[in-house]
Amino acid sequence: MNNTKLNTSIEFVKGVGKMRAELFKEELGIRRCYDLLNFFPYKYLDRSRFYKISEINSSDVYVQISGVFKNIIYKKYRNRYGIEAKFFDGEKNIKVLWFKGLSWVEKSIKTNQKYILFGRISWFEKLPSLVHPEFERIENFKAKSIKLQPVYSSTEKLSSIGISNKAMIKIVKNLFVFLENKFDENLNEYLNKKFKLISPNQAYHNIHFPENHDLLEKARYRLKFEELFFNQLKFKLSHNKLKRNKGYYFPYVGEYFNNFYNNYLSFELTKPQKKVLKEIRNDFASNQQMIRLLQGDVGSGKTVVALLSILISIDNNYQSCLVAPTEILAFQHFKNFKDKFENLGLVVKVLTGSTKSSDRKILLNDLKNGSINLLIGTHAIFEQNVIFNNLGYAVIDEQHRFGVKQRSKIWEKNNPPPHVLIMTATPIPRTLTMSLYGDLDLSIIDELPPGRKDVITVHRKDKNRLKVFGFIRDQIKQGRQIYIVYPLIEESKKMDLKYLEDGLESITREFDKENYSIGVMHGRMRSSNKDIEMNNFLNGKIDILISTTVIEVGVNVPNASVMIIENAERFGLSQLHQLRGRVGRGKYDSYCVLMTNDKISEDAKIRIDAMVNSNDGFKISEVDLRLRGPGDVLGTKQSGVLDFKIADIIEDDSILFSVSNEADLLIKKDPKLNLNENYNIRSFILNNPINKSWNEIG
Ligand code: ADP
Ligand code: MG
Repeated sequence: MNNTKLNTSIEFVKGVGKMRAELFKEELGIRRCYDLLNFFPYKYLDRSRFYKISEINSSDVYVQISGVFKNIIYKKYRNRYGIEAKFFDGEKNIKVLWFKGLSWVEKSIKTNQKYILFGRISWFEKLPSLVHPEFERIENFKAKSIKLQPVYSSTEKLSSIGISNKAMIKIVKNLFVFLENKFDENLNEYLNKKFKLISPNQAYHNIHFPENHDLLEKARYRLKFEELFFNQLKFKLSHNKLKRNKGYYFPYVGEYFNNFYNNYLSFELTKPQKKVLKEIRNDFASNQQMIRLLQGDVGSGKTVVALLSILISIDNNYQSCLVAPTEILAFQHFKNFKDKFENLGLVVKVLTGSTKSSDRKILLNDLKNGSINLLIGTHAIFEQNVIFNNLGYAVIDEQHRFGVKQRSKIWEKNNPPPHVLIMTATPIPRTLTMSLYGDLDLSIIDELPPGRKDVITVHRKDKNRLKVFGFIRDQIKQGRQIYIVYPLIEESKKMDLKYLEDGLESITREFDKENYSIGVMHGRMRSSNKDIEMNNFLNGKIDILISTTVIEVGVNVPNASVMIIENAERFGLSQLHQLRGRVGRGKYDSYCVLMTNDKISEDAKIRIDAMVNSNDGFKISEVDLRLRGPGDVLGTKQSGVLDFKIADIIEDDSILFSVSNEADLLIKKDPKLNLNENYNIRSFILNNPINKSWNEIG
């Protein structure tokens, strides 16, 4: 962006001025010429299409007609005058009305001469009419050759001071004059050629004033490409810099790892598990800090990857920690790791908010003197007085529950910071990962351990409830256990447990105490009571566990074969998928029954269908993203990162994949963008104040 005028205020563009500039800033956040240039029309009216009056119907908003005016007359309407004319297209008439600028209108239109009318349709008594349309003598129209007319979004305030769409078009035209039509190339020749990109000059002209549909498409493609390319380049450059952080050097795969791998691991690792382990080992042996995101669907076997990599860290004489989002999960991990570690002669401890203070004291001491090899726990581990002797590796499970800030506390537990593996079971679409966590390395486990069967998922309506009860009885008779989950009503604390209580009542009516044991669990119970209930379920003492979504994350009860989700229409897709992941963890056929009202909304139907049709968390997350948009999928805090001007990470995922790849290649070849061929890219980054924070190449 060598055209320095792009950085000046729009105040100096003809038709703007001080006052309007102020309003543009307040209303639309447009300050500099660059901002206005990148304020793209949100749609275009097709001025190449002509309507016949007879074909206008109620779904048409704007129409363009060619024809002649017939009997133009002054008319009095209640308390004001107007001009009414008939406009004839050779077949039919349409009524045209003016209430303002009457003398000018009268002077300008003549009967029996050819005009083009363009305007918004109004309906009076089921007849279309045009009020204050634009009109033009046919000769002039042809000379101007307007084809696609841009429409800019506006605000009430802007319209009220006379910045209509027409005025806006004029201002943008003046902007092009002000900028002397100079738009510098910001990519390199290789990319332009390979992706057949039109020049920035053509792109900006055609995005505002398209010559035709084809060029509009090409303009959009070029601008999306640029936007996503610089998004990815930025991530990768900053990543490149992070990578230069010193990290611990773990070159050995030693006795602990080998002993466990050869003697205690009871299954063969899946291909993706092996691949991820290799990726981690490469990072460990690279002298640089690892910051790696491990995505894998529920049940894909992330824990064993964590375990094996922790053993490598211990083989290299460093401590590790494993952080879980809830106490239940922390204890589950602890239980799972304890025997295995003790077999190897290693010490593993658990720390949570409810660790007794006397135990805590001993634990903290042992941690500091290095006699604990692995500390498992909740966010209690983040606290400042939890001090390790030599923390070399931190694994964070289910990271979407932790904020970025919380996570970074782990960084401070040693200097240089430990290697970090963040594991998430909430698959998010790759496009989101790339545009959001572009600064992390990504590992994916995209294959479940062998023998795992899909959870058979069905949709049942309230009227089929008796059949569902019958099915539950049958499964319990075969020795299985059942979850029944009810929605929480977050917005109303009092109503919180309503669904659960109503449900409990009907279940206890249906399943008598003599023959069935029923447990209840919800978020308002004491955590010790929750644990008792959970343990009873785990040990098979409970047949049916009735619960709110507190069981959502991570718990593992292989004997449970049925997940019933009540009012499933009230759950989000990722939550439904997480809940379903609670079953299908053993050797039994497993089922997920989505119960809904007899009538559900379109959106709910799409969610339910997605669940019924697929067990693949990544596929489900794509549907979720389409339904809710990135802001809601990620929570609003993170969504700001995804405020693209023109690109859409859902629609444009294929462009995103390409640019990400190209950015990788570019950085590999020219990490500081010093080569001549990348001069434009470099100078765009350095000269655009939007990119001020790009100090990676400085
Ligand atoms: P998640 O990725 O959801 O954390 P887990 O690590 O809890 O999944 O693994 C789910 C189950 O699969 C565990 O019981 C685990 O022992 C088992 N498992 C993991 N990897 C394999 C494998 N390669 N072969 C067979 N079973 C495996
Ligand atoms: Mg897990």
